[in-house]
Amino acid sequence: MNDLVSFKSKTKFIFITGGVLSSLGKGLAAASLGALLKARGLKVTIQKLDPYINVDPGTMNPFQHGEVYVTEDGAETDLDLGHYERYLGQHFSQINNFTSGRIYYSVIMKERRGDYLGGTVQVIPHITDEIKQAILSVAQNDEDVAIIEIGGTVGDIEGLPFLEAIRQLRTDLGKDRVLYIHLTLVPLIRVSGELKTKPTQHSVKELRSIGIQPDIILCRSEVDLSEEIKSKIALFCNVDRDAVFTAKDVKHIYEVPLALYEEGIDQKVAILLRLPAKNPDLSKWKELVYKLKHPKGEVKIGIVGKYVELKESYKSLHEALIHGGIANDLEVKLKYINSEQINTEDVQDYLSDVDGILVPGGFGSRGVEGKILAIEYARTQKVPFLGICLGMQCAVVEFARNVLHLEKANSEEFDPTTPNPVIYLMTEWYDYRTKKNQKRDITSQKGGTMRLGAYPCILKKESNAYKAYQQEQIMERHRHRYEFNKKYAQDMEKAGLIISGTSPNGELIEIVEVKDHPWFVGCQFHPEFKSNPMHPHPLFRDFIASAKKYKKLKMSQ
Ligand code: GLN
Repeated sequence: MNDLVSFKSKTKFIFITGGVLSSLGKGLAAASLGALLKARGLKVTIQKLDPYINVDPGTMNPFQHGEVYVTEDGAETDLDLGHYERYLGQHFSQINNFTSGRIYYSVIMKERRGDYLGGTVQVIPHITDEIKQAILSVAQNDEDVAIIEIGGTVGDIEGLPFLEAIRQLRTDLGKDRVLYIHLTLVPLIRVSGELKTKPTQHSVKELRSIGIQPDIILCRSEVDLSEEIKSKIALFCNVDRDAVFTAKDVKHIYEVPLALYEEGIDQKVAILLRLPAKNPDLSKWKELVYKLKHPKGEVKIGIVGKYVELKESYKSLHEALIHGGIANDLEVKLKYINSEQINTEDVQDYLSDVDGILVPGGFGSRGVEGKILAIEYARTQKVPFLGICLGMQCAVVEFARNVLHLEKANSEEFDPTTPNPVIYLMTEWYDYRTKKNQKRDITSQKGGTMRLGAYPCILKKESNAYKAYQQEQIMERHRHRYEFNKKYAQDMEKAGLIISGTSPNGELIEIVEVKDHPWFVGCQFHPEFKSNPMHPHPLFRDFIASAKKYKKLKMSQ
C-alpha cells in the first residue's frame, strides 16, 4: 500500500470490534478507554468506522439510526462521535467517521477518473486500501494512540472489508503498533445464576476465522466475572489470563471510565503497546461521578418532540441536560412528551408538572402544532423555555401568530404558501469557513443543502444569552435549512421579541428571547453538541438554574 510508505506517524492503533450482539456499548467503551489513556498523559485520537452504505448518516431517519451528530467542520456523523467528544473533551471532524458508503464512493470516483489504470477494481485490495488510508488519516499529528471502533457485530457481511483492513494493518505496521480489543456479552442465566461464556467463545472463533486474534477481551456483564470465568475465557479464546476484563453495567454512563480503570484495562493496553503512560489522574472523573450520585435536589424538564419513543434520537440533548444538572448539583428528570398528542384542551395537563420546557430540533411538519402549543404555554405561563433549531423556529411562529396576530404565520417548511413566512428557506448565505457565499442547492434530493457545522454568533449584551456565555462572540453548530425571516424582525422586536444573537454581518438571526420572561431562549444552532460533563454548556446550565428557580416559586405559591 503506497500510503504506508508516506505514513510517517508513530501512532499506535487500538481496534475495537464487537461480538455476540449490537448495543453493548462499544462506543462508550472506546470513549472511556480514550479518556483513561488521555488521563495517563497520552495524546489520543479516535475514529468510528460504520459498515452501512449511506455516505453519512445525514439522510437517515433518527428512528433508524439515532441522533445525527454534527462536528465543528459540519460533518454529519454517527452519535458515537458525541461520546468521543464528551469523554475526551476534544473536537473531532469528518476524518473521525467513515462509512462503507463513503469508502466505496471514493473508490468509484477514482475508478471513473481512471486512477486505477485499467485494472480490475476489487474489494481486496482497493476497498481495503481505501479503508486503511482512512484509518491512517486520523493519525497525522503525532498522536500516541488512535482508537478505531468498528461498527456492527463480527459476522456481519458488511463488516468484512473493515475487518480485513484492520487485519492487514497489523502486518503493515508491525505487531507492537496494533492491538485488538473484542467486546462481547457474557449473559447471566438468572434461574441457575450462571454466567455463560459460549457466545464469547463463538464470537472470538468467528474473529479468528478471518485472521484476527484479539489481544484483549472485554466482557459486558450484569455482574463481575469471577477469576474462574475469566480464566475459562482466556483459555478458550487464546488470550493472556490478565487480558479478560469485565465491563459491568453501571448506573451512570460517566462511571464507565472509572469502572474500566478498576478492572485495569488501560494498564494492560499500555503494557501491550508499550505506551509511555504515567499513572492517571482521575480526580475530575471521580468528582463528576460523586456529583451525579449526590444531587442536592431535582428538576423535571418536559421534552416536547417527535422522536420521543427512541431516546437515542436525542442522545446529545439528553446528555447536555444531565450536564446542566451537574452544574447546578441537581438531578434532571426528563419527561418525554409526544407533541402529536398535545392539543389546546390538554396542553396544561401535559406540562403543569414540569419545571422547564424544551423543544428540540426536528424535520417535517408532524407534531409541529403541538410544539407551538407547548411554547405558547411556556411563554404565557413564564415557564423556563429552551427551543433548539426547529424549537426556536416554532417559537418564532408562535410569537408571530399569538403576539403579532399573524394567524397564518408559519415556516415555509410546513406551509410553502403561507402569507407570512416568518421562517423561510434562504438560498444564499456567507460561509465563514470557506469565506465564500454558499448557495443552497434546492434541487438536491435532500431538499436543499443544509447550513452545517460551527458558525460565529455575536451576542447582545443585557440578554440571557450573554449572561450565560459571558462573551460577545460564540461559535455554535448548525444543521438546518430554514432561517428566521429578517423582514419580520422589526415588528417582532417592537412587540417584545429580543434578538440576542446574530451572525457577525447581522444577516442571520441565531438567538431569540422574549421580554418579561424569566428565561425564554430559542437558538437556531444546536448547543447540545458542545456540552461536556466537565464543562456543562452555559445555555443548559442556565436553563436548569432557571428551572430550579421556577420550581421553588411554584412550591411557594
Ligand atoms: N427543519 C428545520 C430546518 O431545516 C430545523 C432543523 C433542525 O431542527 N435541526 O431548518
